[in-house]
Amino acid sequence: VTAYGLVRRARWYLMDLIARIPARALVWAGICPYCFRHTMSIACRPTRTMYYEPDRNYEVSCVDCYEEHDEVWRDMWQEYYAGCR
Ligand SMILES: [Zn+2]
Repeated sequence: VTAYGLVRRARWYLMDLIARIPARALVWAGICPYCFRHTMSIACRPTRTMYYEPDRNYEVSCVDCYEEHDEVWRDMWQEYYAGCR
């Protein structure tokens, strides 16, 4: 296992731990589950996903991560619709 692999594993472990924390607690604590930063911009915001379960169309994140994810989803939908033409 390389040093990079260990860091990656530690990150997964941490993300798994954070995934177990209820979203409300993260918002309350002000910790972003994606970048682990403590910021006042943590909120539960609607995403561009189209999951059947309404709870999954929201994400708890800081404003930076939210914008990053929003761009990824926007690009994905653009590709999706481009493929339908
Ligand atoms: Zn973040």
